[in-house]
Amino acid sequence: MSTTPPEGTTPLRLVFDEPRGRAKPPRHLADLTAAERADLAKERGLPAFRAKQLATHYFTRLVDDPEAMTDLPAESRAELVETFLPDLMTPLRTLEADKGTTRKTLWRLFDGALVESVLMRYPDRVTMCVSSQAGCGMACPFCATGQGGLQRNMSTAEIVEQVVAGARSLARGEVPGGPGRVSNVVFMGMGEPLANYRAVIGAVRRLTEPGPDGLGMSARGITVSTVGLVPRIRQLTQEGIPVTLALSLHAPDDDLRNELVPINTKFSVAETVEAAWDYARTTKRRVSIEYAMMRGINDQAWRADLLADVLHEYGDWGWVHVNLIPLNPTPGSKWTASDPADEREFVRRLEAKGIPTTVRDTRGSDIDGACGQLAATE
Ligand code: SAH
Repeated sequence: MSTTPPEGTTPLRLVFDEPRGRAKPPRHLADLTAAERADLAKERGLPAFRAKQLATHYFTRLVDDPEAMTDLPAESRAELVETFLPDLMTPLRTLEADKGTTRKTLWRLFDGALVESVLMRYPDRVTMCVSSQAGCGMACPFCATGQGGLQRNMSTAEIVEQVVAGARSLARGEVPGGPGRVSNVVFMGMGEPLANYRAVIGAVRRLTEPGPDGLGMSARGITVSTVGLVPRIRQLTQEGIPVTLALSLHAPDDDLRNELVPINTKFSVAETVEAAWDYARTTKRRVSIEYAMMRGINDQAWRADLLADVLHEYGDWGWVHVNLIPLNPTPGSKWTASDPADEREFVRRLEAKGIPTTVRDTRGSDIDGACGQLAATE
């Protein structure tokens, strides 16, 4: 099959792909399935069970100090750790808010690329917000990450490691509230997860595989947030992993959405919402519509009515709910958060039309919690 697009069409690859010819992140056991790990061990002349021992340290015991891996023979421990658990990222800065229960970490990857992750502890759950790309190619003008363009896709292990790092600090009691576990993961850090599809699906598999092959999380606790890459939403629908899909809609009409979420010029509001609806219908998972409230831009009462109508076109059996996000203004941008009265009216109109609506809490906004703002200041 030829990969050359027909003449006159713009190949989507141009939008999705990262620059070529770069060094790859170190291979790590979290990049591999259990069978691939065993093969790698054999390739290196090591017994296959060593791979399982290392996976147990990594995913189950959450150990990262080779000295603590006392079930490995002292003479080959260094080689084993180098083969299966190479260093992937270094924390550069950690910022805390909400009395230490919100912790944002800026990481440097092996090639100097910067990404962020955020841990948020609530009374009943712990959510890790992770990055899937260094930078982002989607160019949404209100988003800090969107301004810098795409540097590169992250590997599966680089994505997983953000969650494991959070799990380690919780297990060690470093987060106020006592030892705990990560219950939720949201792909709402830097990057467009569906533009790095393979690595993201690999990460979801590692997060959900039972120990010692993975972290043993529930797929229902994982949210993949997307600008709406329609072919990839359709692919995810067929994947058979019941993650929660969040669609960053931000406008119910193509005129405005073309500006706020430029990929809309390729996939219209109608096509995108239909793909999300298909996802809900097939997976029986309620889709979350993300809508960042921007003063005077997308927060008019008539747009709330239009949003409800657009969502209602696909049945009113509760396939969807709207999550309003107070805009976290990026430095120097013309966009600011909505007036609280306009926000209340927006909620009222959606609810009056039967659309379940929540307003996201603004945890971490004082530590540049939104999308890429910390990396942008480095
Ligand atoms: N690329 C994916 C995931 C990353 S961003 C996506 O677009 O869905 C996660 C959410 O934060 C998206 O809904 C995004 O539009 C929103 N967001 C980005 N910048 C923001 C800002 N400054 N204030 C509020 N929300 C923002």
